[in-house]
Amino acid sequence: MGATVVVVGGGYGGSTVAKALDAEADVVLIDPREAFVNTAGSLRALAQPEWAGNMFFPYEQWLRRGTVVRDRAVSADPGGVTLASGRRIEADYLVLATGSSYAYPAKPAAESTDDVLGDLLGTHKELAGAERVLILGAGPVGLELAGEIKEVWPGKHVTIVDPADRLLAPFPDELREELHRQLDELNVELRLGAGLTAPPATEAGQVGAFTVTTTGGDEIGADIWFRAHGVRVNSDYLADRRLTALTPQGQVPVTPTLNVHGHDAVHERVYAIGDLTDVPETKMAGFAMQHAEVVARNILAQLRGEQPTAAYQPLPHPIILLPLGPRGGIGQLPSPDGPAVVPAETVSAYKGADLFTGRFSAQFGAS
Ligand SMILES: Cc1cc2nc3c(=O)[nH]c(=O)nc-3n(C[C@H](O)[C@H](O)[C@H](O)COP(=O)(O)OP(=O)(O)OC[C@H]3O[C@@H](n4cnc5c(N)ncnc54)[C@H](O)[C@@H]3O)c2cc1C
Repeated sequence: MGATVVVVGGGYGGSTVAKALDAEADVVLIDPREAFVNTAGSLRALAQPEWAGNMFFPYEQWLRRGTVVRDRAVSADPGGVTLASGRRIEADYLVLATGSSYAYPAKPAAESTDDVLGDLLGTHKELAGAERVLILGAGPVGLELAGEIKEVWPGKHVTIVDPADRLLAPFPDELREELHRQLDELNVELRLGAGLTAPPATEAGQVGAFTVTTTGGDEIGADIWFRAHGVRVNSDYLADRRLTALTPQGQVPVTPTLNVHGHDAVHERVYAIGDLTDVPETKMAGFAMQHAEVVARNILAQLRGEQPTAAYQPLPHPIILLPLGPRGGIGQLPSPDGPAVVPAETVSAYKGADLFTGRFSAQFGAS
């Protein structure tokens, strides 16, 4: 019998590591979902529900030898995991990849593909019936949502509110100026440097007129609102400290080889990747997938009886690809001369046109 590699969470990082090790070990992938979900497509899926099916890549279609267990981890220790059903799964190697949750619709709330599609269609109908849209949060998610709404309904009035004074503060002025230019062109209204004195009276994503007041004293009327701030690390199942002590942010502390720090020593056969970890960088799918490659190399080395030496080195500067609809947007990417601001055409080609559907069809599509 081969070694059992248990991967907890089949998002960007977990799916990449599961696929990389599928031919070499007995992979068990644990996730309450039935498919890898390319959540970068969620906001377009809301505006264009006929497109939503592109986000799903069923695990059984690309995991050849490995098994999928549709369940949720409720506890983990160096020897394996315990699931919500009460089932225990023993592991020779454990990879934690449970990521993070964003407020719906940025990431889906439901688990089954049918329920996710149903939620998106329902919210799409609400949005279609609203003239004025209020988005709380002018980070990448709020801005991207504004762009997707304007692509389908150029005439809707979209307002974004954020307590921060500047958009995308870690990025250079050149990028910010171009972002403001495109938002003006789309007629997206920005209210920066202001929070709300009280939350809207309606539920997020439900049509119904309301008025809110900003901390600056302005009144804003709208017919629907969305929350586009707040990220929660999915690490509740580690709170019992049987494996590790979480950081104050609820993240899993890891070494450069992405091994998990235990209480007294590093766990040599337990790894963590992606948004779950305390790697000091912006949490991004692209980085989660690079972590997965590092961990796959380390586990393969251990399977051969060698030392695991692959280490992950975060980029020294932030990067971003922020589409405003399929053709617009702004970006910053690494280049041999350091970080480089890229034009809308590049953002569209790398992300905006298909939101990575082609890339994931090649990686996780039906053969
Ligand atoms: C709208 C939007 C656009 C984005 N665009 C980009 C982009 O262009 N580029 C980029 O690099 N990043 C982008 N991101 C960020 C990216 O989505 C995250 O960094 C990425 O999801 C992290 O991947 P992950 O593998 O760590 O975890 P996730 O993708 O969060 O996957 C975690 C998986 O674990 C499962 N899970 C959770 N808890 C448990 C449990 N207890 N037991 C078992 N399974 C569990 C979940 O069901 C899920 O399948 C975007 C995010 C959003 C919301």
